[in-house]
Amino acid sequence: MIELSHISKSFGRQEVLRDISLSVKTGEVVVILGPSGSGKTTLLRCVNYLEKPFGGTIAVGDFRLDCSQAKRGDILKLRRKTAMVFQQYNLFRHKTALENVMEALLVVKRMPAAEARARSAALLDKVGLGDKLNEYPSRLSGGQQQRVGIARALALEPEVILFDEPTSALDPERVGEVLEVIRDIAREGITMIVVTHEMGFARDVANRVVFMDGGVIVEEGTPDDVFQRPREERTRQFLRRIT
Ligand code: ATP
Repeated sequence: MIELSHISKSFGRQEVLRDISLSVKTGEVVVILGPSGSGKTTLLRCVNYLEKPFGGTIAVGDFRLDCSQAKRGDILKLRRKTAMVFQQYNLFRHKTALENVMEALLVVKRMPAAEARARSAALLDKVGLGDKLNEYPSRLSGGQQQRVGIARALALEPEVILFDEPTSALDPERVGEVLEVIRDIAREGITMIVVTHEMGFARDVANRVVFMDGGVIVEEGTPDDVFQRPREERTRQFLRRIT
């Protein structure tokens, strides 16, 4: 269970998140939708402290972090429980696919090398890259690089995986393969929060859709609720624009 309570964030004088509270149950897939600039990515980055919220608390399982007095050790603990999949993949360019996944296990989990290698190879196989273990990112397509990013996130066995627009940097013909991998992981019951503009994915895979605008959660509900029976005018306007 992930529980965000009263999270706020500003950049300079711009208030980007205004007192956001959100809770996500274990095994739940929550998709965050909203117009550009509404604060979706910033919220996700706050969950693993890539951005420091101004106040509020973040709880993951029985670990609770008070953002107004977080210590370095607390932040590291939070990061071990939350893994991020980035829009731009963020792989090490000088490491192979296998080494990129292994890095997480060697450094964060301090796993012996042989075990880390075997586990990484199995994870890459799971995301359909069993034949690309020794390729460098420059020799992989965007979709393949993103699948390495997903394998790396899985390697940490986090309590939640945070996907930040995982397909928006991809060529259209590569989007499907990445969404398919995320869909498979979701079926295994891994808790995830996904920021995406992929409405089909949100409809099919989300247990809950959260619509953000102007740094607040405007409404949330099942995909059916939000897509078929939006309560708020702002949601209706957004859906009219994108569909
Ligand atoms: P998009 O769908 O376009 O990615 P978003 O809803 O994810 O948008 P955010 O990326 O969270 O929105 O950005 C919210 C606002 O905060 C934007 O106005 C953005 O310019 C601003 N912002 C985000 N990160 C920073 C930063 N590091 N410094 C200054 N302003 C920032």
